[in-house]
Formats: sequence, C-alpha cells, structure tokens
Amino acid sequence: MQLITRADWHAKKPSTSYTRLASTKGVKIHYTGGKVPADLPDADNHEKCVDLVRDIQRMHMSGGRGETYIDLGYNMVCCPHRRTFMGRGPHVLPAANGPGLNSGHYAVLALLGNTGFTEPNDDLLNALVDAIEYLREHGDAGHEVKGHRDGYDTDCPGDPLYHWVRGGAERP
Ligand SMILES: [Zn+2]
Ligand SMILES: [Zn+2]
Repeated sequence: MQLITRADWHAKKPSTSYTRLASTKGVKIHYTGGKVPADLPDADNHEKCVDLVRDIQRMHMSGGRGETYIDLGYNMVCCPHRRTFMGRGPHVLPAANGPGLNSGHYAVLALLGNTGFTEPNDDLLNALVDAIEYLREHGDAGHEVKGHRDGYDTDCPGDPLYHWVRGGAERP
C-alpha cells in the first residue's frame, strides 16, 4: 500500500487528544460528494488530492460541518492514484458516521464527488481495500464494510460506490 503519512500531507495536529477505540465491527465508506474535478484521476493531478485532504481537514476543524472537529473526521482517506492518506488512523474514534455511530465503524473517505469525478476508478477501489485491510491489521476492524447511508440519512457514499460496497467491496 502507498501510505501518505500525516507529515507527508502536512496535517495539522488534532486540537485535543483522540478518543481511543479498542476495535470496531468494521469500516464505513464515505465520499466527498459535491464537485470533484473530472480530471482528478489524471496521473499528473495527485497534488490536487493532497490539497483536497488539507481543505477537508481545515473545514472540519473550523466548524464547516456545524460542529468543530478536533481533526479531520475520517480515519483514512483514499484517492484515485491508489494512495491512502493517514487521517485519525487506527484505534481512534472517527467523527463522520453520525451521532452514536462512530464507535461501531471506522470511517474511510474516498475522494469522489457527485459531479465531475463520480465513478470510482480501479486505483481508488484498490486504495479503499488497502485502507480496510490496514484498519483490520492495525486497528482490529471487524469484517463489516458498509456505507455511510447504512444507519444514517444521507446519500453518501453515492450510488456507484455504494453498489461496490454492497457487492462485497472487492478488489477490481
Ligand atoms: Zn459520509
Ligand atoms: Zn491522488
């Protein structure tokens, strides 16, 4: 797996200490939604992914989701160049699944929109499986792979990715 450490993407430090999670039932998959440039997957555009992850962290930590988060809300983030960014990481409570739903599953974000770049490419799907396997190995994630919309009223992670989740979240 091609892991991008927090130092690599110049993550800000969390504003307070994390809440530890011993284990989870599995992982929930998310997407960014909104507009993601259609050419994001182009080989030359990975720097844009790094910018996007920084933007999301900034937004989450400045209250853009209505609540000020202590860090990016996700445990890991995957991009269409088969890179996996370290978010909060394993054994940490995420803040993305919805109230009462964060201790059950880790949260993994795909850089994928509902306009522009909307159909996950193979590198993105492989990166998601890399993240799931990493969280199983290092975070005691259980076997479940679900979508944000399972148990919460949202369209996330969008129909194409949700169909992949329902189909078993396998490598392409
Ligand atoms: Zn979501
Ligand atoms: Zn990328």
